[in-house]
Amino acid sequence: MEIISELTDPDYKEKIQRNITAIKKELPDSVTLVAVTKKHTVDETQAVVDAGVYDLGENREQDLMAKKDKIEGPVRWHFIGHLQSNKVKYLIGQVYLIHSISSMKLINKVESESAKKDTVTDILLQFNLAGEDTKSGFAAADLKAAAAKVESCPHVRLRGLMCIGPMTENSHKIHEIFAQLKKMYDKIKTTYNGGDNHIDTLSMGMTNDYPIAVEEGATMIRVGRKIFQR
Ligand SMILES: *Cc1c(COP(=O)(O)O)cnc(C)c1O
Repeated sequence: MEIISELTDPDYKEKIQRNITAIKKELPDSVTLVAVTKKHTVDETQAVVDAGVYDLGENREQDLMAKKDKIEGPVRWHFIGHLQSNKVKYLIGQVYLIHSISSMKLINKVESESAKKDTVTDILLQFNLAGEDTKSGFAAADLKAAAAKVESCPHVRLRGLMCIGPMTENSHKIHEIFAQLKKMYDKIKTTYNGGDNHIDTLSMGMTNDYPIAVEEGATMIRVGRKIFQR
């Protein structure tokens, strides 16, 4: 595990607590804060939980599993990273929500591995709306097919949509992308809710762009750097 911050900082607990308080103060109650603890130590991750944030996000399966047994508290683990299909089996039954389902192949894999364990796995479909090569995700045009695919899988439950904001400082462009995902979310909420589905989660917004995401209707934000900053 790559560790970026130093525990030699004697005030890390207070800083984490202070940062979380500042973020929560501006956040509507209806928005869930997922603290992205990737690359941070077990002690720092525990400090986040002790500050009252129980939704934790990791982007590598090995790191998530390594931390999972060491952290104390009623934690809901979120997998938010690029997912290789050979790693899916390790996550099934271990996480609250997988945010990063970005291909039909992954949907099939989650279905087959969840069936083996006789469980139902909650997922978000990840979209790459800016069409950036560096990001995985479905294209907007895939929405219907991907949602229908999940609906046909008895061991996969669709909870909503996720995206990573575009790599730009142009806030107009960021608004546009988040607004587009919100529209798509509203669409599947009316089309695919009910039955086995439970669509209630729109995961968008990170340290640099979460205020924009909240304005555009995010129900869940994923914040890392701002929680750990000095
Ligand atoms: C790292 C990461 C985050 C958190 O990003 P920050 O800029 O540190 O807030 C959120 N979502 C995903 C998918 C990430 O990989």
